[in-house]
Amino acid sequence: MSQLVCPKCGNAMEIGFVVDHTHGGYAASEWAEGTVQPSFWTGVKVSGKERHPIQTFRCVRCGYLESYARSE
Ligand SMILES: [Zn+2]
Repeated sequence: MSQLVCPKCGNAMEIGFVVDHTHGGYAASEWAEGTVQPSFWTGVKVSGKERHPIQTFRCVRCGYLESYARSE
């Protein structure tokens, strides 16, 4: 899956990732299983949940985004 084609306009898509603003910096978004459970300490609970980094492809022409959260 090195070269994706945009399902909307058929142009090439480039690989990237969605950046989150965190306390004092930036972090890449992750996919986590289950539903959102608020946590006083961290915003949402993620301990014990299965998580995968999200790869997001962006169409160079129309800007359409397509995300994948693969298990390595
Ligand atoms: Zn496109």
